[in-house]
Amino acid sequence: MTFKDLGVIDPILKALEAKGYTHPTPIQEQSIPILLNRKDLLGCAQTGTGKTAAFAIPIIQHLYNDSQNNQGRRRKVKALVVTPTRELAIQIADNFTAYGKFTGVRNTVIFGGVAQGPQKSALRNGVDVIVATPGRLLDLMGQGFVSLRDIEYFVLDEADHMLDMGFIHDIRKLITHLPNKRQSLFFSATMPKAFIKFALTSRI
Ligand code: AMP
Repeated sequence: MTFKDLGVIDPILKALEAKGYTHPTPIQEQSIPILLNRKDLLGCAQTGTGKTAAFAIPIIQHLYNDSQNNQGRRRKVKALVVTPTRELAIQIADNFTAYGKFTGVRNTVIFGGVAQGPQKSALRNGVDVIVATPGRLLDLMGQGFVSLRDIEYFVLDEADHMLDMGFIHDIRKLITHLPNKRQSLFFSATMPKAFIKFALTSRI
């Protein structure tokens, strides 16, 4: 099985080749066709399995294809990835940059504990994808710098850690700002009962 067999488009294949990825990992082989088909997904995967590419590649592909049909329109934030820590947020954003480097799909990363200025400027310049930790994202939304009104792809990464770290209220609040019509992807290393209940009641 190759990435091409999974239906991945040329500009992304070129970037994967540049990264030296020859074959998809099992989570990529299972998730990419489902996500390219615009289905929701509840994925059980540890870090190190290639799960970031499993969700980033289909999102970049959708955004690239959409951009080909909407040339010249103003960029809107269409994908949101929420993750518990700044380190993970940076890593995920770096992956979006690497896999999307021949597509023109732009991302930015938002997390707390640093000055807000550069994050606000990046948002003003226009991005397609935001990778964020919940607190700072809600803060910038409250100030009017981010709107989730046009989100079509929503990823909750390390969802079990989010719940353990007490982010449940923030996540619930974020979800109320998302359009009902969206693709939702939840990834978690474990599937505790509380998490499954949360996923089900959060419409996935
Ligand atoms: P992740 O589970 O997303 O943290 O990915 C773990 C590591 O595997 C990262 O360093 C990725 O760059 C790398 N990786 C992801 N997919 C592949 C692949 N298909 N082939 C080789 N390495 C990969």
